[in-house]
Amino acid sequence: MRIWKIPSPKTLASEERPEAVQTPTQAKVKVTNVLLSPYDLRIWRGSVRPNYPVIPCRFAVGVVSEAGENCISVEKNTRVYIHDTVPCGKCEACCAGRGENCSDRQAAGTDREGYLRDFAVTEEANLSALPPSVSDTDALFVGIVSLCEAVIDRLDAPKGTHIAVFGGGEIGNILCQLLIYHQQVPILIDTDEERLSVAAGCGIYYTLKADEELSANVSRITGGHMAAHSVFTSYNPMPADLPYETTAVGGTVVYTGFGFPSAKASLKPALDRRLTLTTVTNDFSNNAAAINLLVNKAVNLAPLGLEIFPVAEAEQLFSSRAEELAAGKNVKCCVINLM
Ligand SMILES: [Zn+2]
Repeated sequence: MRIWKIPSPKTLASEERPEAVQTPTQAKVKVTNVLLSPYDLRIWRGSVRPNYPVIPCRFAVGVVSEAGENCISVEKNTRVYIHDTVPCGKCEACCAGRGENCSDRQAAGTDREGYLRDFAVTEEANLSALPPSVSDTDALFVGIVSLCEAVIDRLDAPKGTHIAVFGGGEIGNILCQLLIYHQQVPILIDTDEERLSVAAGCGIYYTLKADEELSANVSRITGGHMAAHSVFTSYNPMPADLPYETTAVGGTVVYTGFGFPSAKASLKPALDRRLTLTTVTNDFSNNAAAINLLVNKAVNLAPLGLEIFPVAEAEQLFSSRAEELAAGKNVKCCVINLM
């Protein structure tokens, strides 16, 4: 069984390693496709530094090749989403059998081994069977849809609420589409024209450039009320305190993403406006709902222009895309196919 790992920054190495089902509740999955995200590229470059070596790639789909005798929801040939975040199994909540309340959730590709490998062995509980109507490439976004749903749960806003979303990468774009699905009114804000135009192609009606007119434009769209709440997606080029200018008094600002860079923020405007600042990350509670949303076509992923590359090109892909990211270019997620 082959794995690809980052032993130290700017290196991708592959090696053979045995993988076998160890317990009756485990299944062995042939990984078919993984998502290569800018976060993986940051780990490759060393601008995000987990404990190396790391097997990268957080999001994966595959087909069960062997199921332990006590597996109930999957069997040989079941197509599955392999959960990107799993409970730690060690904290107080996990030991009490309440993994959903785990205080130390482990993300694949960062805190634990990721899925750039031809086989993965995991507990059946970490697999979600996929309906035939959800393609492999759409299913790679289950974790992101799930994260966005957790953000929407946190905001718990009534229908018709204006919500400013900072950052038009995959998370910001999908979040806006889901807000529309839930009858909210997202306003997507970015510095990058290309991302704003992709968002418009996804049916996101209000898109704004983050420039000196931003507050005035948000005020105009919201009839002078400003956005009731804002969501700031991590690793976008805008300042982390920009949402404080566009959020109404008493609103909430959610910071979300796969991880957070160190950032400075001027808190005074947030304190003056009595804003609530909070975070949503590594939330797997909505995986089943996310699959259902993909079945119902609540999200249009086609305009994201997902490219697919064979695993033989993985090394070249990491290096060329990481260069583009370092040069400040708009680098999208892409798919690595392991078939
Ligand atoms: Zn735990």
